[in-house]
Amino acid sequence: MRTLLAEAARHLAESGVESPRVDAELLLAHVLAVPRARLLVLDDVPAEVAERFDALLAQRADRVPLQHLTGRAPFRYLELAVGPGVFVPRPETEQLAGWAVERLAGIDAPLVVDLGSGSGALALSIAHEHPGARVTAVEHDPGAIEWTRHNAVARATAGDTPVAVVPGDMTDPSLLSQLDGTVDLVVSNPPYVPDGARVPREVADHDPPLALWGGPDGLEVVRGLLITAARLLRTGGRLGIEHADQQGSSLPSLVRAHGGFSDVEDHPDLAGRPRFTTARRV
Ligand code: GLN
Repeated sequence: MRTLLAEAARHLAESGVESPRVDAELLLAHVLAVPRARLLVLDDVPAEVAERFDALLAQRADRVPLQHLTGRAPFRYLELAVGPGVFVPRPETEQLAGWAVERLAGIDAPLVVDLGSGSGALALSIAHEHPGARVTAVEHDPGAIEWTRHNAVARATAGDTPVAVVPGDMTDPSLLSQLDGTVDLVVSNPPYVPDGARVPREVADHDPPLALWGGPDGLEVVRGLLITAARLLRTGGRLGIEHADQQGSSLPSLVRAHGGFSDVEDHPDLAGRPRFTTARRV
């Protein structure tokens, strides 16, 4: 087992995979259907398992995202189904979800909108952690929304308050107009990567383009998103938007320049990089 894992990790490292040992362990655990911690107490791997492991390693070496190979992505308390067509949720988005849940404390049945929901990570985490919340997840990409719906059904079946999944473009001036001025919280992990920026192959080849690219400065979609958020939010309602490492001052400036928000603040992720901007609707 140790040799098998060591060789697998070396193979992945040679292919430029960033965390080769962890990925090798998670793929083997996936094939064996055991928790990763159990791997080292297992001795033998049946030939059929070794074969399936090899096939997954080859795909991982070809830079298919780990989460597409296991079909799962952990996010806070949830495990979401992911695969081709949907953006893989990232750990750095977890703090934005945490911030959102804290803002909702004490509000009985808050109205929440997640713009560009993808796998549903933000919307479904909020529904899970604040059971009274009435959450709407908006997704524009017809491929991605299949995953939003799938995960929403899975969470509702598991007992969480159902989340409404709505097809729509976060920059559309008539999106969810029946909610104008009533929403307590808008969150979004929008497409914000500047066009032409270098991203890892896992991202460039497997995350949907609509979830990534945000125009020349990466803020093109955010400009429309701010207009939508300002329209939906009630006075005192909160906004939280994830952004790129380099947008820690440009995004807050954009929110201030809009004029409809106060208390504009930027927050770092666990690695200390600027990661999301929050504000209050005036
Ligand atoms: N953070 C993502 C990445 O690393 C980009 C996410 C986005 O544009 N919303 O590629």
